[in-house]
Amino acid sequence: MKVFEDSLHQRALQIPIQETPWSCLNQYGITLLVRRDDCIDKHQSGNKLYKLFYNLEAAKKLGLKTVLSFGGAYSNHLYALAAGGYDCGIQTLGVVRGQRPIQLSPTLQDAEAWGMKLHFVSRDAYRAKLTTAFLADLRERYGDFYLLPEGGANDEGARGAKVIGWAIEQQLRGDYACVCVPCGTGNTLAGIAAGLPPQKTALGFSVLKGAGDLGINISASYRGCFGRQAGSGCETGVPSESEAGGWRLISGYHLGGYAKKLPERVRYFWHSLEAETGLLIDPVYGLKMFWGIAQLASQGYWAQGARIVAVHTGGLQGRRGFT
Ligand SMILES: *Cc1c(COP(=O)(O)O)cnc(C)c1O
Repeated sequence: MKVFEDSLHQRALQIPIQETPWSCLNQYGITLLVRRDDCIDKHQSGNKLYKLFYNLEAAKKLGLKTVLSFGGAYSNHLYALAAGGYDCGIQTLGVVRGQRPIQLSPTLQDAEAWGMKLHFVSRDAYRAKLTTAFLADLRERYGDFYLLPEGGANDEGARGAKVIGWAIEQQLRGDYACVCVPCGTGNTLAGIAAGLPPQKTALGFSVLKGAGDLGINISASYRGCFGRQAGSGCETGVPSESEAGGWRLISGYHLGGYAKKLPERVRYFWHSLEAETGLLIDPVYGLKMFWGIAQLASQGYWAQGARIVAVHTGGLQGRRGFT
């Protein structure tokens, strides 16, 4: 499947937004609408396809044959990048935190099978991954490359995620209260908010324990969605910042932090959520969003009759790292 053969906007419009029964909301008279971006592609699942789309395009335009990015052993981002690069004939290079293990994780095995070169570095080196010296060393070894930040979190990434917000409004024509999405870097949240009309808000549920600079990064990504490409003749028209929706970061539902062991009651919640909705949910991102949504509903955050859109961002390959 070639990502460039059809427009990202066209693909986004074909993603179903399903009214899904879920007692955690239905008991308060609230409706859950799940946007199934987990189904957009077998390997570039969920938000990662959107975040990669304009990046792969930019690399091609710049004439760069390699895209380099970063991640851990179960990274959804590296996995999607390897698959996306394979699909469109771009060499990919993954800088991975930690020693190369004897047995690669299933995620990295797949990435290698799609032709991604893996470059393992110590945790200290990984922290210094954006320094000039580190990057110069990589360019010496592998030649020139398109530098894609960890998680695909740059302006091109947010611009791709913006298409999700745009598509939701096209599909539902205003008949929803807000859009919920899990947040790692917050790049997807920023993009979705930028794609929504002014009276709609995107709510991001942070999966990280300390939010740190998250708010600052989201603001920067949000602004990055306007400007440069504004008025560039994009087939859909690009709204200005004042015509776009806002975002809100919700940080109380990270359940101990990134990829931490889940408490028993949360495992129970996870299994009943899957049984009731018929969805498969990844524990690192999606589960925390649904957990947060359930808590907010029980606190009366939404009025009776509200219709809540939850974006299923995929990431199911990561379940393999979670036994
Ligand atoms: C990467 C990822 C996210 C987080 O996206 P950000 O743009 O970094 O906030 C959410 N859900 C899943 C499944 C992901 O893989």
